[in-house]
Amino acid sequence: MTKDTLKPGFKGRRLFLGAAAALPATSVLGAKQPQGAAGSGPLATSVLDAKHSQQDPQRGKHRFDADVIVIGAGFAGVTAARELGVEGHKVILLEASTRLGGRTYSGRFAGQDVEFGGAWVHWAEPHIWAEVQRYGHGVEEEQIANVDRALVMLSDGRVKQVTTEELAAYDRSGMDKFCAGARELFPRPYEPMANPKVRELENISAAEHIATLGLNEIQTAMLNAEMTLYGAGSTKEYSYMAFVKCFSCMSWDYYTFNDADRRYRIGKGGTLGLLKSMIKHSKAEVRFSSAVNQVRQERDHVIVTTEDGRKVTARAVVVTVPTNTYKRIQFIPELAAAKRKYIDQGEMGDGAKVFVQLEKNHGNTFAFCDDPNPLTVVQTIANNDEIGTILSLTPGRRKLIDINDADEVEKQVQRLFPKAKLTGLSGYDWPNDPYAKQGWGSYRVGQMSLAQEMAVPDGRVFLAGASTAGGLNEYIDGAVESGLRAGRQVREMFGRSSS
Ligand code: FAD
Repeated sequence: MTKDTLKPGFKGRRLFLGAAAALPATSVLGAKQPQGAAGSGPLATSVLDAKHSQQDPQRGKHRFDADVIVIGAGFAGVTAARELGVEGHKVILLEASTRLGGRTYSGRFAGQDVEFGGAWVHWAEPHIWAEVQRYGHGVEEEQIANVDRALVMLSDGRVKQVTTEELAAYDRSGMDKFCAGARELFPRPYEPMANPKVRELENISAAEHIATLGLNEIQTAMLNAEMTLYGAGSTKEYSYMAFVKCFSCMSWDYYTFNDADRRYRIGKGGTLGLLKSMIKHSKAEVRFSSAVNQVRQERDHVIVTTEDGRKVTARAVVVTVPTNTYKRIQFIPELAAAKRKYIDQGEMGDGAKVFVQLEKNHGNTFAFCDDPNPLTVVQTIANNDEIGTILSLTPGRRKLIDINDADEVEKQVQRLFPKAKLTGLSGYDWPNDPYAKQGWGSYRVGQMSLAQEMAVPDGRVFLAGASTAGGLNEYIDGAVESGLRAGRQVREMFGRSSS
């Protein structure tokens, strides 16, 4: 029995995030923490500091502590830091937690490499794919292509077994119907508002749209579960256009979309491995345990203050924190009204991820569980007679299940795998991480046009982060896109003579 697995009698105890949910992001996983977690950070600040001072002959010549401060060390922040750092700008990266990655989190569970946050990437995602290629990480394939058992849990809780061919056919036709007209609606998906019709349609919810499609019972359940997943909340709130945009980014093609969705993980150390490659290249100085609570703009510089009162100055700042955490930061002067409106509305983002180990080998299964059944998408990531079965559970609505309660999770799993015995559980409760406050972000009805304002510079303040991306705002790709864009905007500002 590995450290990750539960011992008999441990069941029913709360596993990793108890009542004191406001723990630092890195202290919430059970006995075993993911790689790069607190204390074991591969990039100790002092090492980077020392390295930077050796390699930057210009250090000390500036009037400010840095040329650019980047807030947040997820993919957006690390990309922006790399973009500016490789051009010789001095970059200080302030990160609230004690690890790189943000809503990506590489770790181990039951002998497997797993991703507790964002995981799957694809060559149809141009920005992240360029990073995977640039640093030579390649991908590893999940066993989803060889599923031998497919289940669909209807909203009333009945479970239907379908053949894998039926599952694929239902999924494809449901998705194609949902996304009909995608090519015309999003002719250039990375400029999502290019067709004015999108503005008219963005107030229609995924649920309203599904109801018009004339699908059978199983297809309706599958599609509603998919949309609950992408919406990370109720389909009554999720904007139909938000999903069609993401689909359009994958060349308006079901197969590409599906492969991009849950088939290929980043190789050679996963998301953390790639981030380490990027940050090393950036030469940025990374300061962990540096939660920012104020960003002040002066005429020719910015002053960024952390919760412990330290101040850092620079010519510009790139803010990459998740939308639902902006309320922790005071902006002086206040951000533009449209940005504030978007932030105040907040994003949907009630998703989480949990891995469980079952005692027996239950085969290679894929299941959709329609709302309000809480598991949403269940995927076998490994199974054999020695390890039993390891499942990845992705609840789209975290509030429907207490993922800290092994008994409750086991009960839900048994609805798909009768009598299955849970022997291990680990996961990450993103909506309860104070520096995430959400899993993957998604647009509510009416929010997509407003979100575009987030990418407009506010003086010396540049906002990035996946939700500010033109394209795949729910993905790692969107985070990288936004980091590239913010890097370019800062560069342009520096290029203007008065900056
Ligand atoms: P983050 O990664 O959230 O980075 C922001 C950083 O800011 C964090 O490190 C945070 O600690 C820090 N921070 C917050 N507040 C402060 C502060 N006040 N001061 C300093 N630092 C602060 N995407 C995919 O492409 N494929 C997937 O398979 C996929 N699955 C997902 C599954 C889950 C469970 C989750 C949670 C996400 C998933 N995503 C997936 C989405 C993807 O992970 C995110 O879109 C992306 O990682 C966001 O990156 P980011 O840099 O914009 O934000």
